[in-house]
Amino acid sequence: MDLYYIINELGEERENYLYSVAPPIFQTAMSCFPNVEAMRQSLANESETAFYTRGNNATTDILRKKMAAFEETEDALIFASGSAAIAAAVLSVVEIGDHIVCVQKPYSWTNKLLNQWLKRFGVSTTMIDGTNPENYEKAIQPTTKLFFLESPNSFTFELQDIEAVVKIAQKYNLTTILDNSYATPLNQKPVTMGVDMVVHSATKYLSGHSDTVAGILCGKKTHLKKVFESELMTIGGIVSPFNAWLILRGLRTLPIRMQRVAETTPQIVNFLASHPKVSRVYYPFHPSHPQFELAQRQMKAPTGQFSIELKAPNINAVERFCNSLKKFLLAASWGGYESLIFPACTLYTSENYATAPFHWSLVRFYIGLEEPHLLIADLEQALAQI
Ligand SMILES: *Cc1c(COP(=O)(O)O)cnc(C)c1O
Repeated sequence: MDLYYIINELGEERENYLYSVAPPIFQTAMSCFPNVEAMRQSLANESETAFYTRGNNATTDILRKKMAAFEETEDALIFASGSAAIAAAVLSVVEIGDHIVCVQKPYSWTNKLLNQWLKRFGVSTTMIDGTNPENYEKAIQPTTKLFFLESPNSFTFELQDIEAVVKIAQKYNLTTILDNSYATPLNQKPVTMGVDMVVHSATKYLSGHSDTVAGILCGKKTHLKKVFESELMTIGGIVSPFNAWLILRGLRTLPIRMQRVAETTPQIVNFLASHPKVSRVYYPFHPSHPQFELAQRQMKAPTGQFSIELKAPNINAVERFCNSLKKFLLAASWGGYESLIFPACTLYTSENYATAPFHWSLVRFYIGLEEPHLLIADLEQALAQI
């Protein structure tokens, strides 16, 4: 399917909306029906029709169709956050006594879900170094049901060889879920590599304006119907019609935003990689990344997130660098106009200094849509403060 068709035509019914160019926001809690039979039919097919907004809504439904097309899956469900989508996906696979294998250092709340929350319900998880697919196989137990992937993962951007991991999962009849928030469906299509379910934090690139929190789950129609009837309707972590509309708006500029960060981010990474105050860059599309070749095979283009380690004598020097940046906001997340930094030393307190998951000199970057020479000049003056 052409991007043009997905973005501008699929799911849009302008003839039903007074020929409005932008889709309307159906700010309603429910639909009404002309007669009992119409109501009965809608209720019997609640995941497909706009019966009640905790289930489906006409604005949200447009987004479902577009996201399924982007990921080349049969269907998609929209949630209140990426974390809600991830939790629904995982809960739809496991039950008491089951076991999960997950890539190490995933998104923090994925880690919490798997290693704390689900433990209370008798589901255990083994975290593995996902750079070697064999580690997934080695961690399999008789009760293993699920492989969880996040490629690249958060902060250090390690990849999993998706096809190789899927092959192992299929051999043992296990389900695979992949968090595709880093790459977006434009740059990585996990389902075409055999992954069963794809999850997104739509808060990031898909909405694209740092103004919405939402999540997406893409997969097979039969499975997502079960998720709809169980996790989505029961826990009710749904997106509002307005936030669904904001993401629809974001999708219209997704291709050009991704094109922009693919052009500018490597320039900034190259500047940093050759700077004497930078000891290491973590960027899948930089030749120094140990999985550079896999990144090019598995992803279409570079994106805007990377991390660096600074050659700094202490945390104070890292903080001086961060505080000196004028054109980078200190904030989590990514995907909007504005460039952001998230220094790992914010995770450090005096108690966890020895056990914090990332080196204190690590700083995660998101490169936004600004002119790259302004960002480089800003980095140059801040690096001089170390
Ligand atoms: C932000 C993020 C999430 C969580 O998404 P929310 O929309 O914040 O709930 C999950 N996975 C990754 C990789 C993320 O970056």
